[in-house]
Amino acid sequence: MGLRIVPLASGSNGNSTLVEIGGTRLLVDAGLSAKALGVALESVGVAPGSIDWIVLSHEHHDHARGAVRFSRKHNVPLICSWPTLDAMEASPAHVASWQPLEPGRVLDLGKVTIDPFSIPHDAVDPLGFVFEGEGIRVGVATDVGHATARVVEHLQDCHVLLVESNHDDDMLRDGPYPWHLKERVRGRLGHLSNYEAAWLLEQVVGDNCCNVLLGHLSEQNNTPELAVESARKALARGGRDSIEVRVAERRRPSPAVEL
Ligand SMILES: [Zn+2]
Ligand SMILES: [Zn+2]
Repeated sequence: MGLRIVPLASGSNGNSTLVEIGGTRLLVDAGLSAKALGVALESVGVAPGSIDWIVLSHEHHDHARGAVRFSRKHNVPLICSWPTLDAMEASPAHVASWQPLEPGRVLDLGKVTIDPFSIPHDAVDPLGFVFEGEGIRVGVATDVGHATARVVEHLQDCHVLLVESNHDDDMLRDGPYPWHLKERVRGRLGHLSNYEAAWLLEQVVGDNCCNVLLGHLSEQNNTPELAVESARKALARGGRDSIEVRVAERRRPSPAVEL
């Protein structure tokens, strides 16, 4: 049964990733419309109604846009923290059912556990996740202002990692964004640069790691080539050249990672 991860979309236009461990299907973030999520899932052979849980990292539209509607339409329970649900102006009555999530408290779903941890970002209760089941660890952390000790500690020794590699520092500095937006993106509650993502990977990657997915790339301030090169260089420094590094596609499903 094993593991299957399919990033359905990644970036400020919308984020959602199918994480399937031991037959349990999780939709991690739902930042497309409910309809677009359904289309994306069907395009990779997954019936929307077969999703077991939706898990949300934070309330920003590019992560939560379709969550409430998808939950109701396909009768899929929603897992997120109370502050996040509240910030979405939703309540448990608006969704099929709601399961609270608290940073630092592991949630046991039977075949999969979710270990949610706080990440620095300008949302009410932003979370990163480690999903674990069948002896496989999957780390997901996008929208990370900076890599804190907590982030580094949680993402240790994952088999597969999906981490943000948002911008190239030079492209952001010289690019078209207005000053206040540049400051937000590179601020400590903004987004992780290629350089910071590479540093984070160096800290957390262990012998078990076989796949790294780089996500949430900026369309204006990054290129897939720069992001991959930066991560590969960092991994090579630690003698980990054999790890596969890929970029999650922005607007369509990426090839599946399967273990
Ligand atoms: Zn965000
Ligand atoms: Zn985002």
